[in-house]
Amino acid sequence: MDLNFTAEEQAFRERIRAWVGGHLPKDISHKVHHALDLSRDDLQRWARILGKEGWHGYAWPQQFGGPGWTAVQRHLFEEECALAGAPRIVPFGPVMVAPVIMAFGSKAQQERHLPGIMSGDVWWSQGYSEPGSGSDLASLKCKAERRGNTFVVNGQKTWTTLGQYGEWIFCLVRTSNEGKPQTGISFLLIDMKSPGVTVRPIVLLDCSVEVNEVWFDNVEVPAENLVGEENKGWTYAKYLLAHERAGIGEVNRAKRELERLKRIAKVEGLYDDVRFRDQIALLEVDIVALEMLILRVVSADRGSKNEGGKQSLDVAGLLKIRGSEIQQRYTELMMLAGGPYSTPFIKEAMEAGWQGDQALGGAWPGGAAHCAPLTATYFNYRKTTIYGGSNEVQRNIVSQTVLGS
Ligand SMILES: Cc1cc2nc3c(=O)[nH]c(=O)nc-3n(C[C@H](O)[C@H](O)[C@H](O)COP(=O)(O)OP(=O)(O)OC[C@H]3O[C@@H](n4cnc5c(N)ncnc54)[C@H](O)[C@@H]3O)c2cc1C
Repeated sequence: MDLNFTAEEQAFRERIRAWVGGHLPKDISHKVHHALDLSRDDLQRWARILGKEGWHGYAWPQQFGGPGWTAVQRHLFEEECALAGAPRIVPFGPVMVAPVIMAFGSKAQQERHLPGIMSGDVWWSQGYSEPGSGSDLASLKCKAERRGNTFVVNGQKTWTTLGQYGEWIFCLVRTSNEGKPQTGISFLLIDMKSPGVTVRPIVLLDCSVEVNEVWFDNVEVPAENLVGEENKGWTYAKYLLAHERAGIGEVNRAKRELERLKRIAKVEGLYDDVRFRDQIALLEVDIVALEMLILRVVSADRGSKNEGGKQSLDVAGLLKIRGSEIQQRYTELMMLAGGPYSTPFIKEAMEAGWQGDQALGGAWPGGAAHCAPLTATYFNYRKTTIYGGSNEVQRNIVSQTVLGS
């Protein structure tokens, strides 16, 4: 196994770096580098810039309008974007539903949906989880009843990330109660503008709205929006989850945030504390180890063009576990580096251009502006070991696959 990049791969990296340097809007990268709030407009602006280049679906094969990059090229692209301060691509369209539509959707579905996903124009949401059906996803109850050429959908989804912006949602729905729960699930594409769809925000501790409830009340969905075969949705759902979990590893973002942690620790004086520096060093070792694991996976996949970034569920689970734990550690260390200056919470401090002390007429109890978002980010990142399938459940999957049971 050769973990070094070839001359062509290095040249590819340079090309991407130059392109990102010339196209990533400065106001967006400023927000990313300082952990400030990104608006819908920020996220979609970047998606559309990538889309124009044919890179919003950067892992797609050429057959479907993607660049057809190898696993190594995809990795380099992700790294250059993350280090430059590009926002994470909102995955629901290009990373999750698109590969399912490519693999299992009809030609008509591919022609209808893939162009809008690639261009970044159409915002997708993920409708898997329900109250009581998260880890035990197969127990889901949201029902789709076939009436002629229509499915009538009734039920609820929850934790729908950024669902307040969603134009389309891909949903797992119950179409049969016969046999095992997994065998009665179907995969439906639902237009969120359909009558009977209601999105209710779940307001989080930091006052942000990142997740939602989505309700379906007699929503009529054309049968042509069924992906693949009725009652085979569980197979497609698992295919999608392998894409989702592989992406959650986020080692490149961790590399960028490690440097931010060091900068904050230096300004706050904690970098001189040997015990604190030990924590940073341990984190760095784990980030390098995760990177090596990813490079091993990428290296084994060298030359493969058409996998669309998919890993097997066990490897994806491993990357998800380590990556999410690392994300939690760097947010914790940043908060500790800020010490008491991290604790005051002012929502406006998450907005770009906030002037801290001046805005409060000299009453800002925090230190440097970089301290303002640290605690909110720390709390927000407790989500990483839960979403995409909780880490406890990932450990079960990895151990069953690797050790057998
Ligand atoms: C911020 C955020 C965003 C999300 N976005 C989306 C989204 O866009 N779309 C979507 O469909 N879903 C989304 N989810 C839902 C997410 O997938 C679920 O929260 C997750 O699968 C866990 O399910 P649950 O919340 O029902 O917890 P539960 O399944 O009730 O689990 C509760 C606890 O029990 C543990 N546990 C459960 N079963 C086992 C087991 N067999 N062995 C060991 N421990 C176990 C879990 O690890 C957890 O600690 C999101 C969640 C969060 C937090």
